[in-house]
Amino acid sequence: RGGGEGWGAEGVGVGCAGGGGWGAGAPDAAGRRRRSPAPAAAGCDGDGSLKKLRGIPVAPGVVIGTAIVLDDTRLRIPRRVLPPAAASRERQRLTDAMEASLADLEHLRQTAESQLGVEAAKVFAFHQGLLRDKSLTGPMLKRIEAEQVQAEFAVQEQFRALADLFARMPDPAFRTKVDDVWDLERRVLRHLIGEHQAECNVRDGTVVLASELTPTQTASFDRTKVLGFGTTTGGPTSHAGILARALGKPAVFGIENLTEEADDGDTVILDGDRGLVILEPDDETLLAYQGFMQRAQSVRLELAEIASLEPVTTDGCRIELMANIEFSYEIPAVIENGGDGVGLFRTEFLWLTSDHEPTEEEQLAEYSAAVSNCAGRPLTIRTFDLGADKQTQERQDSGERNPFLGCRSIRYCLQNIPMFKTQLRAILRASALGPIRVMFPLVSNTMELRQAKMLIHDVMEDLTEAGMPFDAKVPLGMMVEVPSAALMAATFAREVDFFSIGTNDLVQYTLAVDRTNEKVAGLYSAGNPAVLKLIKDVVRAGRRQGISVSCCGETAGDAEYTMLLIGLGLRNLSVTPSRIPYLKRVVRSVSVPQCERLARTVGSFDSERQVTAFLRDQARRLFPELFDGRAVDERS
Ligand code: PEP
Ligand code: MG
Repeated sequence: RGGGEGWGAEGVGVGCAGGGGWGAGAPDAAGRRRRSPAPAAAGCDGDGSLKKLRGIPVAPGVVIGTAIVLDDTRLRIPRRVLPPAAASRERQRLTDAMEASLADLEHLRQTAESQLGVEAAKVFAFHQGLLRDKSLTGPMLKRIEAEQVQAEFAVQEQFRALADLFARMPDPAFRTKVDDVWDLERRVLRHLIGEHQAECNVRDGTVVLASELTPTQTASFDRTKVLGFGTTTGGPTSHAGILARALGKPAVFGIENLTEEADDGDTVILDGDRGLVILEPDDETLLAYQGFMQRAQSVRLELAEIASLEPVTTDGCRIELMANIEFSYEIPAVIENGGDGVGLFRTEFLWLTSDHEPTEEEQLAEYSAAVSNCAGRPLTIRTFDLGADKQTQERQDSGERNPFLGCRSIRYCLQNIPMFKTQLRAILRASALGPIRVMFPLVSNTMELRQAKMLIHDVMEDLTEAGMPFDAKVPLGMMVEVPSAALMAATFAREVDFFSIGTNDLVQYTLAVDRTNEKVAGLYSAGNPAVLKLIKDVVRAGRRQGISVSCCGETAGDAEYTMLLIGLGLRNLSVTPSRIPYLKRVVRSVSVPQCERLARTVGSFDSERQVTAFLRDQARRLFPELFDGRAVDERS
C-alpha cells in the first residue's frame, strides 16, 4: 500500500507504550480453542490452523487478546446465566423495552403517514405487527424463565430464529424481511442496553473487531480494557484511526470479511505495524509474537530515555515537537514524552463524547484544565471541526451527499454563530490563564477567515464590556488543509499569526481520495509530488511573511517523513504524543543541510512510489532501530 506501509512499520512498540497493550489479556496457550482448517476465504490466508487477515496498518503496536465482534447490523450478546431471582426483573425489562419500541414505531408510523404517505407508513405498521405477535414475545419470556438468561440474550436468540425463518422462505418477498427483523432487533436492544451497547461487553484484554467504528464509539470504550481495534472500513487518517493512535491502541482497518471470519472469544493477535489480524494463532506464532513484543518494549524504554533531551539537529537547529490531543487529560503524557506543548487540540471531541452541545462553562473547564496541564507551554486550541466523519449525536444523519465537501468545520461554525461564539468566549476566557493560540480549521477562502476573525473580535468586545479578563493578543492562526488555501498561502499569511498544515485533509482534497475509504487507501499518500509541492509552497509563503508554520497531519508523526519535512523548511511538527520520542531520535541525529539534500532528491521524483520507497530506504538505513526489532517473519 504505497506510502501507507510506513504508518505502521515505523511504530515498533508504540502500542506497547499504551500501557494496557503490553501483553495484557494474553490468553493461556493451553486454554485456547482449536479450530479446524480455515477455509480459503477472501482476505484470509488459511494455513491450516490460523486465520490471517490483512488490512491497513493504522495505529502501530502489537497486542494479543480476546476478540469481541461488533457488526453493523448485528450486535452479539454473550449469554449470561442469572440467579433465578433475577428472572422477574428481566421479564419486566423485556416488556418495557417492547413497549418503548412500539411507542417509537407509532411515532415513526404517524410521521411517515403525514410526510411520506400511507405506503411508507406501512413499513412501520409491519414492524409493529411483528412486535405485537405473541409467537415472538412468548418464547422470549419463556426463555428468560427456563434458561435464566438476560433479556437481551433472549431477544437476540428469538430474532435470530425469526430471521432464519424468513430467510428460508421460498417467496423472495419474504426473504427481504430479514433486514426488517435485524432492524427491529436493534431497536429493542437499544432500549435494553442503550446506544453504547458495545461498551457493556468489553472485558479486560479485549480486541474490538468491527465492521465500522465511529470516532465517538472509539473514544467511548473503556481504555483500560480495550487493547486494540480492527475494522472492515476506514483508513489511517480516519478520525477513528487518529483516536486509536491517541489512545495508544494498535489498529488495523480495511480488513475484508473481518466480522464474518472472527467470532467473539477468539484469541487474536492484532499487528498494527503490518496491518495483520491473526485469529486463533498456533503456539509457534503466538510465541514469535510474544518475543517480538518483548523486544519492542526494550526499544520503547530506550526511547523514553531521550524524552528529556532537546530536539536539536546536529548543526544546532531547534525543531519544536508539539502534540495533537483530543482531551486535556492527554497533556501529562505529552510532557512525559518530552513535548514542547500542544500544537493541535481537537476540541470537537468534547462534543462528540457528549449528548449535548457543551456549554460555555463546560468548555471553559476543559480549556482551563488544558492550560493548567500545559504549565506555561503553548496550547493551540482548534475551534470545532465538526461534520464529515465527526458528527455529533444529533447530526448523525446530516443527509449530505458528500459530507467531506459539505457543511463541515469552519463552515458549520459560521452557519451556527451562537454556538461558535460560545466556544470563542470559553477559549478567550481560558486565555487569561496561560498561553493559548486559536486556530480555525478548513479555511478555504479569505472571506471565511475574515468572518471568523470578526466574530472573535466581537466576542472580545463583549468580554471587555462584561469586565472578563482574556488575552487581547491571543495569536490567531489557521489550518492549511484545503488546496485553495495552500495555493493562496501568501495572501492568507498576511492575515494570520500562524499556519498549521493539516496533511490529513490536504492529501484527501488534493488527490480526491476520501481519507476514510479503504477502497482507495492505496491512492492516499502524502508522498505524492503534488502534495509535497503544496507543503513546500505553504512553508515558503509563511517564512516570507515571518509567521510560524507547523505541520500537524499524521505525516508529521511518521519518522520516514521527518527529514523531508525539515528539508522542506518546517521547524515545528505536531504529532500524537507517543510519537514524540521517535521524532526526537531522528531530529537529534541529522543536520539541516542533510535534510535539505534529501528534500532536493525527493523533489526530482515524479511519482509517489519513488518518493515513498526512497524515504523508506533512507529512514531504515539511518535509524534501523526505529523500524526493526521484529523477528516475526512474513510467514507468520
Ligand atoms: C488534518 O486534516 O491534517 C488535521 C490535522 O485535522 P483532522 O485530522 O482533525 O481533520
Ligand atoms: Mg483536518
